[in-house]
Parts: sequence; C-alpha cells; structure tokens
Amino acid sequence: MNLDYTPADDAFRADVRAWLEANLPHELRDKVHHHKRLNREDFASWHRLLGTRGWSAPAWPREYGGPGWDATQRHIWDEECARIGAPGVLPFGVSMVAPVLMKYGSEAQKRHYLPRILDGTDWWCQGYSEPGSGSDLASLRTKAERVGDHYVVNGQKTWTTLGQYADMMFCLVRTDSGAKKQEGISFLLIDMKTPGVTVRPIIMLDEEHEVNEVFLEDVKVPVENLVGEENRGWTYAKYLLGHERTGIARVGQSKRELEFLKKLALNQRKNGKPLLHDPVFGAKVANLEIELMALEVTVLRVVSSEAGGRGPGPEASMLKIKGTEVQQALTELMVETVGPVAAAFDPAFLTGEREHSIVDDDAAPLAAYYFNYRKTSIYGGSNEIQKNIIAQMILGL
Ligand SMILES: Cc1cc2nc3c(=O)[nH]c(=O)nc-3n(C[C@H](O)[C@H](O)[C@H](O)COP(=O)(O)OP(=O)(O)OC[C@H]3O[C@@H](n4cnc5c(N)ncnc54)[C@H](O)[C@@H]3O)c2cc1C
Repeated sequence: MNLDYTPADDAFRADVRAWLEANLPHELRDKVHHHKRLNREDFASWHRLLGTRGWSAPAWPREYGGPGWDATQRHIWDEECARIGAPGVLPFGVSMVAPVLMKYGSEAQKRHYLPRILDGTDWWCQGYSEPGSGSDLASLRTKAERVGDHYVVNGQKTWTTLGQYADMMFCLVRTDSGAKKQEGISFLLIDMKTPGVTVRPIIMLDEEHEVNEVFLEDVKVPVENLVGEENRGWTYAKYLLGHERTGIARVGQSKRELEFLKKLALNQRKNGKPLLHDPVFGAKVANLEIELMALEVTVLRVVSSEAGGRGPGPEASMLKIKGTEVQQALTELMVETVGPVAAAFDPAFLTGEREHSIVDDDAAPLAAYYFNYRKTSIYGGSNEIQKNIIAQMILGL
C-alpha cells in the first residue's frame, strides 16, 4: 500500500531504516517484539539516543529543534519504527504539551520547557481526568484559586499514565465556578515536586503499575505557569486532544503484530496441521487483515490531506475507533492461538528479569498483553465518545 512516494521519500525511508537497524538496541527491540514491559530507563535511553540524531521530536518544526519533517516523512518514520519494533516516544511531553506551548505558551514558557522536553530532562504527565470527569471532562472540579502571584490548587486527578516518573504535569483546573462549565477552566503546568502533590499507584488487570491517582492539596503554582489566558483552558485542551488522536491508529504496529500472530498460528497445530491453515481460524485472520488494510488506506487519505495542509479533523475519531478495534482483535486472536499457555502469568519474564519464560517465550506475555490492551478503547476519549463525534461532526446528526 503506497502513497505517491517521491524518490526523495524513498531515500528518506532508506536513511531512517538504516539508522534504526544500526542503533536500536537489541534488548529494546526484543522487549517490544515479545510484548515485554518497558521501564523508565528504556523510554528515557531511547529518547536520548533519538536525540543524538535530532529525531526525538519527529513532528516538531526546525525552529524548536525538531527535524521539520512533512506529513509523509512523519508517516514513513512511524512505519519504520513500528516495523523494526522501536519503543514509541512517550507522547505527554513531545506530542501533547509541546504543541500547546508552541501555539499558546508565553515566550518564557517556550524557552524554558521546549528544550527540556526535547532532551528528555523533564518527564511530563497528563492531568485531565478526574473521578467522575472522564468522558464529561468539562465537569472537572479540581479548583485553582488565585492568591497573589500564585494559584492554590486543590482536587484529584486520576488515570495519570506514568505519573510516578513525572517531573511536570499539565493540568486542567477550574478557575471560575460561576461560568458555563467549559468557560471556567484553565491550563496549568505543575511541578510534581511541589509540596501537596501525592501520587498513588493504580494497579491494572495485568498487574502493571502504569496509571496513578494524583492528589493535589493546597499546591502553590506560580502564575507564570498558566498557559495562555485564564479560563480559556478548554480551547487549549481540545487542541491537545486533536494531537493525541491522530497517532492512535497505530497501523505500523498492527502490521507487525499481524505477522507475529501468523507466525504464532503457524507454529500451533490443530488436527495435525498448522492452526493458521484451519479454515475457521484462517478466516478470522484474513478478516482482520482486510480490516487492517482498509484502516491503512484511511490513514493514508488523512496523511495525504495533511500533506496538502489540512490539520487533523473529525477523521481522527474514525482512526481511533478502527485502530483500537484492530489492536484488540489481534490480542484476542493471539490468546486464542496459544490457548491455556497464555494463562501462565510470568512477571519476571515480562520485566526482563529472567531471560526465558517458564512456558514459551512467545506465548507467556500474551495474557498480560491482552488484558493491557482493553485500555485502548477507553483512553484518549472512549470509542463511544468518538462515535458521538462522528455522528455530530461528520454525519451531522
Ligand atoms: C490506561 C489508561 C490510561 C489513561 N491515561 C490518562 C492520562 O494519562 N491522563 C488523563 O487525564 N486521563 C487518562 N486516562 C483517562 C481516560 O481519558 C478516561 O478513562 C476516559 O476519558 C473515560 O472516562 P472515564 O474512565 O471517567 O469513564 P466514563 O466517562 O465514566 O465512561 C464510562 C462508560 O460510559 C461511556 N459513556 C460515557 N459518556 C457517554 C456518552 N455521552 N455517550 C455514550 N457513551 C458514554 C463510556 O464510553 C464508557 O464506556 C486513562 C485511561 C486509561 C484506561
């Protein structure tokens, strides 16, 4: 499946591929291919390594130290990283708060934070969701009161991904309780070391510590850490969510996982033949492959309209829904392929503490992977909410 790639695009792809082949550490590649857990240092060291080539923020313009790639080059980069099994660059700093700062931040904020995001000095987390305010985000209640040259913040955030490692949190807070709910929200940058910030783990179905609750008690935040104007935070929050959704289709990753599934199903036997050749199972894999090809065509349409200068629109919601459905279906078929072997939970192998699993190295991480991927239809705006967006913005219902 090809865009109209130019010879320059092909040369770009060859350059990126050669660099990744030469520089992606074998252990990281193995962890990604085998669905093992990546730790803080895995993400941080990969970010630093990308920085040595000027590629730690692929979507940034040159002005801020990015490579200045166009939409097609960014797509090629995503494809090549997924193909080889490179860890994703964490989005919270590079692709979420940075675009907001570039568009709405003060000069001082840009000067201070952007270089620190680029070189990995600051690890960011996203403080949007609260208990009772997820899909209905605008109902959020965490309050910030202006006292002299500070805001005093009180409230609770939840589902804060990797917040246990974060140096900074971009946070939505209510600064005007009297206004319409979308109009009384502001966008604050909070240093996680400020007294009054407490991070508590939430352990997920796969026993992984990936998300947290963050409690904010009388947290003093300097007014310089307000982004843009007070009570205009909803505008900035929506701008950021548009950036969050476009990468979410993860076609390259699903193509790699499809190959893994096929390999797995070729090695399993049913009635003396490879499971992949069983007509019923084979049909399920073929259907999924067709869905994935259709998704890829849709992504390419969005990429080429972006290349023509249009920003991501409500199409991002289609990519999110279909992308996550395909990702989840892949994990389901993998578990179906290995059957009871997937039930063997082997945390030491998952974290890389032990080199080989107690059962089968390919199969052992699959139950955890399956459970972990239930999240994809919830985060980044649940799939039901994406359907509402499509109904309103695309179908005009
Ligand atoms: C693994 C994971 C990581 C996350 N990381 C972060 C993070 O780093 N930072 C952050 O701020 N948030 C994060 N989130 C939170 C995420 O954005 C919310 O979970 C999500 O927006 C859904 O909100 P909720 O959990 O409150 O569910 P609810 O909003 O209570 O929804 C419950 C169910 O009702 C459905 N529903 C709700 N409203 C409607 C409607 N109007 N129409 C149809 N159906 C509806 C939903 O689709 C869902 O199925 C994360 C979530 C997960 C699971």
